[in-house]
Amino acid sequence: MHINDAVFLEDLCPKFRLRQWRKSIHKFTGKSCIYCGKPSESIDHVLPRSQGGLSITENCVPACLSCNGDKSDENALYWYRKQKFYDPRRAMAIRAWLEGDLRLALRLLQWANPNFKVNSKIYETDKQNYKAA
Ligand SMILES: [Zn+2]
Repeated sequence: MHINDAVFLEDLCPKFRLRQWRKSIHKFTGKSCIYCGKPSESIDHVLPRSQGGLSITENCVPACLSCNGDKSDENALYWYRKQKFYDPRRAMAIRAWLEGDLRLALRLLQWANPNFKVNSKIYETDKQNYKAA
């Protein structure tokens, strides 16, 4: 392999994986904001990166730009409690998500919004990938 190719691949692969990962986060909730249910246009770090929050599924939730921007560096659950659209079921879902229990989180989101469809097929696929990793 040419030395330049190696550099190129090193550069390309993490970006590709990051994009796939971001996509899968949105897929979990059917591209809806975990806080308010509007279309999710961004990934929100529950514990902000400025406070040492990691870019892992347990710390990253799908959020609309409005919620993401408004929350800023505040504690997610504390911020969420003050919102007009606060729903205790969603708060529980966020908590479950942070604990890595995505299945419970999605059930709670479904409870909060009967129109919300859980794509269990995607969930199973991702779980397998997670195990393999
Ligand atoms: Zn939102």
